[in-house]
Amino acid sequence: MRAVRLLAVGDIRAVEVDAPLPGPGEVLVRVLAAGICGTDRHLYKGEFPCAPPVTLSHEFAGVVIARGEGVSLAVGTRIACDPNIACGQCDQCLRGRVNLCARNIAIGIHRDGGFAECVTIPAHRAVETGGLHPHHAAFAEPLACTLHGVDLGQPIPGERVLVIGGGVIGLLAVQLARNAGAEVTLLTRHPAKRELALSLGAMQAVATEAEARDVLPNGADLVLECAGVADTVEMAPRLTRTGGRIVVLGVLPKGQKVQIEPFDLLFREIHLLHSFINPFTQSRATRMLSLKQIEVAPLISRVIPLAEAARAIAEPAAPGEVKVLVDPGLA
Ligand SMILES: [Zn+2]
Ligand SMILES: [Zn+2]
Repeated sequence: MRAVRLLAVGDIRAVEVDAPLPGPGEVLVRVLAAGICGTDRHLYKGEFPCAPPVTLSHEFAGVVIARGEGVSLAVGTRIACDPNIACGQCDQCLRGRVNLCARNIAIGIHRDGGFAECVTIPAHRAVETGGLHPHHAAFAEPLACTLHGVDLGQPIPGERVLVIGGGVIGLLAVQLARNAGAEVTLLTRHPAKRELALSLGAMQAVATEAEARDVLPNGADLVLECAGVADTVEMAPRLTRTGGRIVVLGVLPKGQKVQIEPFDLLFREIHLLHSFINPFTQSRATRMLSLKQIEVAPLISRVIPLAEAARAIAEPAAPGEVKVLVDPGLA
């Protein structure tokens, strides 16, 4: 079968490999859609730790086509993969903080993922998606990650929420905050993404910090940083009201430093929080997608075959592009 493998940092390509066989407790999944994520680009550039060679993609959906010993999930079941396999035994797992597991194994990072015709995953990491279109089910993982960040930020009706960054996470955060009853503003320099945010429930969309200050003169109750850029992380406290909260969901390259002023955060008692991956949120995310509480069709910029995936990951995202999906069924 074909698989898009990271062979070394800076070297990704489509290669022919043996189809995997499901071991005990595993299912073999035919991949129907896999999203290209900023993390895949970080992995390609060596900015996020992993151990190549490995088939990338941690955001995928498909159908169970075979199962190993001890699996009750039926062949033919449509699923979305929750890629994080916590050990269940370390100190963090025993405290219920499974996303902080010291020995977490992420499918598509530490073991082979979904940029392939088929992939094996533990059956307990497969979340049933029923009649949800697989191109939409591929958003279950990024939505689950965004849901965790919004859970941490706890927006309530009537609050003012500023989302910084108009990528997939930002545009999902806009919808989750709006669903929570907040008045949402999106800050992004891309005009097309501002338009998209307005059509998805943002009240305002602005291009710069100065414009954000115009619409939020006292700052936002909650700022969700979804850009993963040093400038926007530094900007977040300046756009947060006294007594407000910041949640950073954006992934900055490992080693990147930012300047913040602890005195300002102290004196204005601003809570600065970070959100990492998707603890126990994948089922809720899948349900929200099935109920159409979150719209993802407008976030799909293009759907490409496996043969084009390596180049799409190696090159930076095109301006205005939101989510590129890989559909291994396309020739
Ligand atoms: Zn991702
Ligand atoms: Zn653990």
